[in-house]
Amino acid sequence: MKIFISALAALLITACTSHGQERKTNTSGIKEKVIKTDAEWKAELTPMQYNVLREKGTERPWTGELNKEKREGMFYCAGCGNPLFESKTKFESGSGWPSFYTYATDTSLLDLADYKYGMVRTEVICAKCEGHLGHVFEDGPKPTGLRYCINSASMIFKEE
Ligand code: FE
Repeated sequence: MKIFISALAALLITACTSHGQERKTNTSGIKEKVIKTDAEWKAELTPMQYNVLREKGTERPWTGELNKEKREGMFYCAGCGNPLFESKTKFESGSGWPSFYTYATDTSLLDLADYKYGMVRTEVICAKCEGHLGHVFEDGPKPTGLRYCINSASMIFKEE
């Protein structure tokens, strides 16, 4: 009986930890978080940026300005200016949202489990201001196999 219980416990632990949430960017390098009040965010951001970044909204597909952005440069967080994605990792996913196969730096993103709408997804937020950016899926291209599906409204592009 004792052996059975330990086996069951081991099985449960494995089941829980293999839930797909192990992939985390390293955030130990983040020195300063950007923390603002809701009123401050509202005053600084456009209504669309506020809806996506602070209320976890989603823009309609094919409506974001940066979906078709093809120049070389960096995509920054529209809330705090944190570098998020490099243009060389952007690809056409056909989803209608800007898509990337990896993030720019170890202090770009944080992954969170998202169980909304009866789905298990991984939400990605800016590691500095914790603004909502989008989700990451495991159906992306090589070399990572990941698809970061990001709201255009959550980013600012600067050509380099
Ligand atoms: Fe940010």
